[in-house]
Amino acid sequence: MRIAEISLPAVRHNVRRIKELSGGQVIVVVKADGYGHGAAIIAQAAMDGGATMLATADLEESLRLREAGVEVPLLCWLHGPRTDFGAAIEHRIELGVNNLAQLDAIAEAARAAGLQATVQLKVDTGLSRNGIQPSDWDVVFARAAELVAEGTISVRGIFSHLANAGADADRAQAANFDEAIALLAAHGVEPEMRHLAASAATLSSPHLHYDTVRIGVAAYGLSPLADKTSAQLGLVPAMTLKSEIVALRGVPAGTGVSYGYNHVCETATTLALVPMGYADGMPRALNGSGAWVTVAGEHRPIVGRIGMDQFIVDVGPLAGRLELGEPVVLFGDPERGAPPVEIWAGLMRTINYEIIVGIGPRVLRVPVEEPLAPDAVEPDEAIAEPVRSDA
Ligand SMILES: *Cc1c(COP(=O)(O)O)cnc(C)c1O
Repeated sequence: MRIAEISLPAVRHNVRRIKELSGGQVIVVVKADGYGHGAAIIAQAAMDGGATMLATADLEESLRLREAGVEVPLLCWLHGPRTDFGAAIEHRIELGVNNLAQLDAIAEAARAAGLQATVQLKVDTGLSRNGIQPSDWDVVFARAAELVAEGTISVRGIFSHLANAGADADRAQAANFDEAIALLAAHGVEPEMRHLAASAATLSSPHLHYDTVRIGVAAYGLSPLADKTSAQLGLVPAMTLKSEIVALRGVPAGTGVSYGYNHVCETATTLALVPMGYADGMPRALNGSGAWVTVAGEHRPIVGRIGMDQFIVDVGPLAGRLELGEPVVLFGDPERGAPPVEIWAGLMRTINYEIIVGIGPRVLRVPVEEPLAPDAVEPDEAIAEPVRSDA
């Protein structure tokens, strides 16, 4: 049994919380299969929490959601030279536009389909990654205005993405964004959605909210801020990664454990085998790092090398209380006693994003409706600088 339980009440709570905080519309980003949670599972919960639309990076991800029967508004923005904009238009998927060639290709596809394409103009305000470059704004906005006038496209939004390089850099990007909005308006186009903030800026910088925010990790209940926990931000982690004990053995002192014997039991103890490994997104480099899991409500250490399919927990003091099938929690909501995913992220010198998105395909995503704790999360008023987000 390898399960990622996905708490739908947590997702709804997180989206509602962000909506209250920002006071505007919320786009929930479900790229990379909903940050590893299962995009189709997240879709309805996010909409129920008050999201206006969902977004993916690639069109393929959005099309997969349509195939799964998800009919809500979708936006995608990362296109290659051969992206099939016709398929997007037919499936009513909104397209982020990053350059003139994309705009023209979208217009051509719309004419061919006999349908109007809905686009959102993505402008580069300083991330230097994607988006219309400032030197091209005028030309692209002029073309967009023409295409709007002839009815080929409608422009629902203008957006950009922050580099999270500090408050000054944020302010500079916001000033550039304001300039782009003004220039677009000068061309007679005033879209209904303007969005710059992802989770970090949404949670730390109200002046960057505009009328819409575009959040990923916060919807899943995780903190994008290095110095704030989920609970401090009023968020509830949605994923609980779980498995079970499938073998138990008492061993004498001096027993070597798993490949390479890099762990040797100092005393006689009991070892529990858990069928989850690096194929499931459990980093092999956690080996010997002090990472722990929860078994029967207790913190117990992972010992020995992590295999592709399995790892071992020293359950010594609990031995008499355990049977095969006993649940093992790898990470989840620390307010409910689970190890926070940030422990693995910290040990691996990465961010919580990378751990959740790396949970492998063998792990079954199971939506759960278990209600949240009634006192779930009184958020901290004090809010910090974003320093960690980099999706
Ligand atoms: C991934 C992504 C987001 C969401 O980022 P979070 O930090 O998870 O909120 C928002 N906008 C763009 C363009 C992204 O690529």
